[in-house]
This record gives sequence, C-alpha cells and structure tokens, in this order.
Amino acid sequence: MDEEITNIQLWSDLLKSCMSCEKCELHKTKTKTVFGKGSHEAKIMFIGEAPGESEDREGLPFVGRAGKLLDKYMAYFDLTLDNVYTANILKCRPPKNRDPAESEQDSCIDYLRAQTKLIDPKIIVCLGRIAAVRIIKPDFKITSEHGLWFKKGDIYMTAIYHPSALLRDPAKKSDALLDFKSVHAKAVELGVL
Ligand code: URA
Repeated sequence: MDEEITNIQLWSDLLKSCMSCEKCELHKTKTKTVFGKGSHEAKIMFIGEAPGESEDREGLPFVGRAGKLLDKYMAYFDLTLDNVYTANILKCRPPKNRDPAESEQDSCIDYLRAQTKLIDPKIIVCLGRIAAVRIIKPDFKITSEHGLWFKKGDIYMTAIYHPSALLRDPAKKSDALLDFKSVHAKAVELGVL
C-alpha cells in the first residue's frame, strides 16, 4: 500500500496525484485519466473495471454504450450523480479494452482506496466480476454470487452484472433488475437514499 496516496485528504490533491501517475505503462497509451464522477457526499459507490474507448476520450467513467445502459437502471431506482460516486479499478484504459493485468490493478488500487476513504460509503456495488474479485473476494463467482450481500467493516458490498455483459447477453437483464432492486432496498434500509 502506498500511504502517500491512501493518506491524501483533499480531493484536489488526490486528483492531481492520479493525473500525473506513472506507476504502470498505461499512462503512455491513455488519452485521458478517468478518475471518477458523482457526488463526494454520496454514501453509495459503484465500482467498474477500467475505462473503455469513450471514457478514455471523455475522461469520465461509464459514458459509452454500457454506461448509457447503466444510467437507465440507475435512474429507474433513483440513483443519480447526486447520490452515487462512480469510479473504476483502473484509471487508465488498457489498450483494446483487454482485461486489466493484475500488476496494473496493484499499481492503481491505492487511488480507489483513497477515493473510498474520502467517500466513506455505506454501500459498494461492484460492476462485474473483475471489480468483485478485487473488492469482495478473490474467488467471487459472478454467475452464482451476483446480488448477494457481503459486509466488510461497516460497508455493505454486492456485485451485479457489468452493463457490457447485459449488452452481450440480454437474458441477464432480469437478474440485473432484481439486483438493482436489492441495492435500492438496502440503500433505503440504511437511510442513504
Ligand atoms: N466499463 C467499465 O468497467 N468502466 C467504465 O468506465 C466503462 C466501461
């Protein structure tokens, strides 16, 4: 753990540090750093995998096709930029959208740790297997464990299908709806929505 990063207490300092990061090779091929979006006062965090082409171009997470689908689910359940903070495990796009390498995740994860410390969320929703494996548990199985709740410290965590998986396989959308319902119910139960 790089405590110089995880102990940063100001969003502006954290952003600056992330923007100038050269801890892995991805900074050489990225267009923009994709730090995060949403409210710093949010008590709900959504965590994805890594920026894709649109995110790399715009510098914001989940703005491409998958992001637009995610927005629809979120809006339906009253989840907005005002009550959710969204970020990825990686802040720079892996070329050709390949899976993030373990070493790249290791290099980048302290930025997410620092973001999580500053947000101090009550709920974390992992989008897809890669985020769930990194954040919830290393043997997380998205097909059998999506929608289940785990608790670490004071934080309730769950994982739902990545919106790209829903675009590839629309049959998963009914499960996604149930999982979103569960996130909404947990947020209401905890008084954060
Ligand atoms: N997929 C992700 O995991 N994150 C993004 O920001 C976009 C697509």
